[in-house]
Amino acid sequence: MSKFIPLSVPNFEGNERRYVDDAIDQGWVSTGGGYINKLEKQLAEFLCVENVAACQSGTSALHLSLIESGVRPGDVVLVPPLTFIAAVNPVKYQFATPVFIDCDDSFCIDPVKLRSFCEKECKFDGKSLTYRGQNVKAIVVVHVFGNMADMLSIMDIAEKYGLKVIEDATEALGTKYIEGRYAGKYAGTIGHFGCYSFNGNKIITTGGGGAVTSNNPEIVDHIRFLSTQAKTDPYYYIHDEIGYNYRMTNLQAALGVAQMEELPEFIRRKQSNFDQYCSQFDGFEFGKIIPFRKGTSSNKWFYSLSIDRSKVTASMREIIVALGDKGIQTRAIWGLINEQKPYLNEITYKLEKAPYYASRILNLPSSTQITKEEILYVADGVKKLLRSLANG
Ligand SMILES: *Cc1c(COP(=O)(O)O)cnc(C)c1O
Repeated sequence: MSKFIPLSVPNFEGNERRYVDDAIDQGWVSTGGGYINKLEKQLAEFLCVENVAACQSGTSALHLSLIESGVRPGDVVLVPPLTFIAAVNPVKYQFATPVFIDCDDSFCIDPVKLRSFCEKECKFDGKSLTYRGQNVKAIVVVHVFGNMADMLSIMDIAEKYGLKVIEDATEALGTKYIEGRYAGKYAGTIGHFGCYSFNGNKIITTGGGGAVTSNNPEIVDHIRFLSTQAKTDPYYYIHDEIGYNYRMTNLQAALGVAQMEELPEFIRRKQSNFDQYCSQFDGFEFGKIIPFRKGTSSNKWFYSLSIDRSKVTASMREIIVALGDKGIQTRAIWGLINEQKPYLNEITYKLEKAPYYASRILNLPSSTQITKEEILYVADGVKKLLRSLANG
C-alpha cells in the first residue's frame, strides 16, 4: 500500500464545477461579471462588514491597503519576521522601510515589543511617530496559521501613536473573537484594513485571488477603483490616478462563491481535526502542538508541532524527508524574512521568539479531506520518527 497524505490540498466537494461552467457559458471570464459581485457580498455578509473588494491575490490586497494607508517612499512600516514573505514585499513595492518586530508565542507580532519599540526607539510629538527621522505609518499584523494576533493591545498601541493597522488575515478567514472587547469580530475587521487570500492552500481557494476590506467602506470603493486601472469615466478612457490590474476575474469568483458556501463546514473540519491531533500528541515527550489563542474561535487553518530541540537535534530537512518516505507531507515554518537576501540590511527589534520557533516548528497535514485514520497514521509516524531521532 503506498500512502500519500498531502500537507494541504483544495476541496471541491460543492458547486465549483457548476458555477465555473456557468461563468464560461455566460462568456464572463474576466474582471467583470456577476460572480465577482456575489462573492464580495458573501464575504461582506460573512465578515459582518459593509464593503469588500475582491482582488487578484492576497498580495495585491496588501499592496492596495498600504497605498490607501498613505505609505510612501521612505516611510517605516512595522512588520513580523516569521511569516510568508508576501506580507512584507508590498512594503518594498512602496519603497518604504520595513522594521521587523519579534513575535510572541502565537507566532503573531508581540505587542509588548511593539509598544517598547514605539516608546523607546521612536520619537512621538503627540501627532506623528518617527524613527531615525522617518515617519512610522503602519503596522502589518499577520494572523499566522489562523491564530488571532493580540488585537486588543495592538489597536491600543496603534491608536496612541496614530498608526494604520493592516491585518494580513490571508490565513485567518473565519477566525474571530468570542469574548472581550472584540467579541464577534473577525480577523481582518478590527484594524483599518483586512486582507484575505484565496490561493491554492488557503481555507477557501479561487486558484489565485484575494479580497480586502476596511473600516471605512468608501475606501473600499476607492480600492476597487484602483484595482481596475483607475478609470474615471464609463465612456472615455480617463484616468486621474495610477491604477493597477489587481481585480479578481469572474472565473475565479465563480469558484469562490462555491467555496464560500462550504466555508463553515471547512472550518468545522479544521477545528475537529486539530482536536484530534491535540489528543494524539497529548503527553508526547519530544514535541507539542501549539494551541490557538484563548478567547477566540480560530479557523485552525494550519497545525504546528513544536519539536523539543533539547532532545531532537536532527535538521528539519532530515525530518521532512524521512516523513516524506512514509507518505507524510510536512513542511518547516518559514525562514525568517529578515534573513532573506533582499532584507538583510533591515532593522530588527529584539528577535528572540521568531528564530526560536523558526528552528522547531513542523507543520502537519491539514487538508479538510483528511480522515481520522490518516491523522492517526501521521501522528504515529511523526512520533515514531522523533523518538528514533532523539539524542542518546
Ligand atoms: C498566502 C499569504 C499571502 C499572500 O497571498 P497570495 O494570495 O498568495 O498573494 C500573504 N501573507 C500571508 C501570511 C500568506 O499566508
